[in-house]
Amino acid sequence: MDDGSIKVFQGYRVQHNNARGPFKGGIRYHPNVTIDEVRALAMWMSWKTAVVDLPYGGAKGGIAVNPKELSEGEIERLTRRYTVAIAPIIGPYIDIPAPDVYTGPQHMAWILDTYSQLVGRFEPAIVTGKPVELGGSLGRKQATGRGTAIAAVEAAKALNIPIKNATVAVQGYGNVGFYAAAVINELYGAKVVAVSDSKGGIYNSDGLNPQKVLEHKKKTGSVVGFPGAREITNEELLTLNVDILIPAALEGVITEKNANEVKAKVVAEGANGPTTPEADKILFEKGILVVPDILANAGGVTVSYFEWVQNLMRVQWTEEEVNMKLHDKIVKAFNEVYKIHKEKNVDMRTAAMMLAVQRVADAVKKRGLWP
Ligand code: NDP
Repeated sequence: MDDGSIKVFQGYRVQHNNARGPFKGGIRYHPNVTIDEVRALAMWMSWKTAVVDLPYGGAKGGIAVNPKELSEGEIERLTRRYTVAIAPIIGPYIDIPAPDVYTGPQHMAWILDTYSQLVGRFEPAIVTGKPVELGGSLGRKQATGRGTAIAAVEAAKALNIPIKNATVAVQGYGNVGFYAAAVINELYGAKVVAVSDSKGGIYNSDGLNPQKVLEHKKKTGSVVGFPGAREITNEELLTLNVDILIPAALEGVITEKNANEVKAKVVAEGANGPTTPEADKILFEKGILVVPDILANAGGVTVSYFEWVQNLMRVQWTEEEVNMKLHDKIVKAFNEVYKIHKEKNVDMRTAAMMLAVQRVADAVKKRGLWP
């Protein structure tokens, strides 16, 4: 620590499955990190990479720490020490970490540097979500929200809802929520009528300008108080009469208590786990099309994959190229999941899991058991 004392933090790296390719998954710094949480998240990554058909398995890492209590120097030393600890089991063809909660491009830069120094060569493909200066991909920052918007648009298409002027409500205005709102509005012409953050929400039936709302949030700390909009609560936002609802903040927000009140025709899960299993059943019975998290927020890991490919090839794609390839991946995955949903009459989450688990199982079976 900065004061010269030594403190021990517990860290983990869990590798769930690599039948389809190297392990892939983020590293989380959070006081609540436990081995069981990391295990669950690692498995989630196996299904996520399989559902969008990336040649990866699933892994996750974490350190039980509150990074807000550490100085930047302490976080750097913690990150480098963690990297040394996991170095024997990671590698560009073995296990490729990425950012997750409370880690970002700077942490990835430290991991890249530590690993590269250990192996004696510059190895950008060891992590994704890096700064662009070190081989990060253009379009990576926007990728998750962009993918969520694309998935929502595909779902609207499947229900014959014209996307132009379709109404959208977005919960959460962070990395995923903001870019989902911006892309669905600017690229597809949908009308974002409501957004929210931890302080509350805003509504304007004529539509909000996502960039202007972001400017307002940067200035004041919240979307609340945006000129011309009426204030609403986060709970109200979820039950608005809109075409598309994008929960992009926390898990467990659509529950058996409010699922009956959800009026959106499409729910695209930007967040991980925003719908409880009980609510899932209710939404399905109401005929609401839920695009599950492992599909609707897979844009991030998809562009992580593109970043890794660019690193291995020592090339850099343009942002347009990245966006086009992301679009194709999400649309293809959506259509595959939608087909199973229709053919087997199961909800989209079950359909996505059927596709993902089948892909992993096929790979495991075809490889066989050895030794
Ligand atoms: P950020 O931290 O960037 O943003 C989170 C947003 O949620 C913020 O706007 C925050 O408000 C808001 N929020 C926090 N608490 C509440 C609350 N009680 N009610 C309403 N809004 C709240 O996170 P991300 O956008 O990166 O992640 C959002 C979700 O998406 C998470 O579930 C994450 O696991 C998932 N996800 C993210 C990926 C990514 O690439 N970033 C990839 C895959 C999944 P405020 O601004 O006021 O703090």
